[in-house]
Amino acid sequence: MRLILLGPPGAGKGTQAKILVEAYGIPQLSTGDILRSAIAAKTPLGLEAKAIVDRGDLVSDAIVNGIVSERLDAEDCKPGFILDGFPRTIAQAAALDQMLIDKGVKLDAVIEIKADADELVRRVIQRSKESGGARADDNEEVLRKRLDIYKEQTAPLVAYYSDKGLLKAVDGMEPVEKVTSSIKSAIEG
Ligand code: ADP
Repeated sequence: MRLILLGPPGAGKGTQAKILVEAYGIPQLSTGDILRSAIAAKTPLGLEAKAIVDRGDLVSDAIVNGIVSERLDAEDCKPGFILDGFPRTIAQAAALDQMLIDKGVKLDAVIEIKADADELVRRVIQRSKESGGARADDNEEVLRKRLDIYKEQTAPLVAYYSDKGLLKAVDGMEPVEKVTSSIKSAIEG
């Protein structure tokens, strides 16, 4: 099973990805998590990405494409994977298409998790409180910027994958378990 979870910050991509990892026995590939680990470990990648991630901007396509391409070659991705937070631009989606062609595999579905802007802000502020402010980008000002970037650069992926016949939309305003069952029925048909 090869999936992409698409949706704005706070839509629940990470939450659902973790549940689907258990259900399908395939890994979650979160570019956000990979970048945050690199930042915490102060690797060269982390040092380069820190300021960009903290202010809510997108890290360059070249960097994230490289991260994903390398990660997809790992043994645990053979049976499939769940991409969470990638692709985020049309250029990243095109790069992913090429990577998958090179690796001889195909996507099964792109799940769009939809939620209202007000609810997204509420959830991210809540997440920030619960984590004691662990993520420097989870404050209202930076979040607004991430939402704007989502609208401008990531939302066009909805049409991109819809044109390929891969898009399935689910309502991310429902309770977690309900969203999971919507995703499963979207995938399993
Ligand atoms: P969220 O979906 O809640 O905004 P993520 O954990 O997916 O959070 O990403 C956090 C940050 O990491 C982004 O705001 C961006 O700076 C960086 N990032 C993650 N994925 C990508 C990507 N595919 N392209 C560029 N930057 C990315």
